[in-house]
Amino acid sequence: MIIHSQKRSFGKGCNVSLFTLGTMRATDNLNKMYSLIKRAHNAGINHLETAASYGKAEILIGEALKKLETSEKIFRKEWIITTKVLPKGDFNYLKNNFKNSLKNLKLKKIHNLAIHGINLEEHLDWVLNGEGGKFIKWASKNDLVNQIGFSSHGSYKLIEKAINCEVFSFCNLHLHFLDQSKISLAHLALKKKMGVLAISPADKGGRLYDPSDTLLKSSEPYHPLELAYRFLLSKGITTLSIGATKIEDFNIVERLINSSQNLTSSEISALENIEKVADRELKSSKCEQCRSCLPCPSEIPIPEILRLRNISIGYGQLEFAKERYNLIGRAGHWWEEKNASFCLGCNECIPKCPSKLNIPELLKQTHKLLIEKPKKRLWG
Ligand code: SF4
Ligand code: SF4
Repeated sequence: MIIHSQKRSFGKGCNVSLFTLGTMRATDNLNKMYSLIKRAHNAGINHLETAASYGKAEILIGEALKKLETSEKIFRKEWIITTKVLPKGDFNYLKNNFKNSLKNLKLKKIHNLAIHGINLEEHLDWVLNGEGGKFIKWASKNDLVNQIGFSSHGSYKLIEKAINCEVFSFCNLHLHFLDQSKISLAHLALKKKMGVLAISPADKGGRLYDPSDTLLKSSEPYHPLELAYRFLLSKGITTLSIGATKIEDFNIVERLINSSQNLTSSEISALENIEKVADRELKSSKCEQCRSCLPCPSEIPIPEILRLRNISIGYGQLEFAKERYNLIGRAGHWWEEKNASFCLGCNECIPKCPSKLNIPELLKQTHKLLIEKPKKRLWG
């Protein structure tokens, strides 16, 4: 049975469903891509999100959509597609890669093209004053794209600048119930009539498909992931991306495909209970994410590290927090560069914290709690 689903305006582009199928994890083979896209369609999703850098994703999408047309009468024109290009390379490189993306997706024109990872000032400069800008103008002038957007894992200030630069009509941001630091940026973008996509609320949002007993109990009678989705949809976020790997990943999505209404009193009280339990577990040591402690002379991302502490102790998502903490310094500009071991113990941050937290001590504890020995590589 195909579900009729609500669509929301996504920037200057076509309307999209409240959920988007992210295809990064669907690239094993054509069968997998085909069955996930078919299931997404049956759940009411009309928006696919991909990137040239996701291995064979674009080729598999092109093939899967062709097969869906012939075998299921699910027509290509029903889909809105977003692909992405990395902010690097010169005009000819970008032009050739983009033509290749269109060929792989079997499209003459793409609905949405995002610059993938405006994480540093130099990336935005590449768009505003460099080869990226030249490429965007060429793609728009030749009617190869409906609208241009960006994704970012960068700082608050950089994202704010990108939203305000008047080049982009949509943005893909990290917006999560367990990390609300970018929600005000989403609202800024929505106010400017941009489309806003939340990147991976299930996985990057705290691995909520695998909740701790603490989180499961404190969110009753809801599943934590269901509440996290509802929280974002009720905030007006246009669409939430689902990096599905199996058919069951659509169960909650299908239930919420038309659920953009305000939170109910029962949902509000479950969300409040999650916070109450987290406060109790953290015993007055919760970092409120106000960022008043910055800058740190050793450039330690204090709020980000203490947020992982909140998540591991307050919400019980220890494995997720460990994974993120141990990625620090290993993911280039896609994540933070310095972990808590770089703290000099200068105590400059302590008087700046309105919650009167003993930050250096908490950083030390967090490092001890989350650091793991580098895993042995299976090859090389
Ligand atoms: S005590 Fe550590 S975290 Fe605080 S300002 Fe000094 S170096 Fe930065
Ligand atoms: S000032 Fe205190 S509460 Fe605010 S982000 Fe820094 S550590 Fe957290």
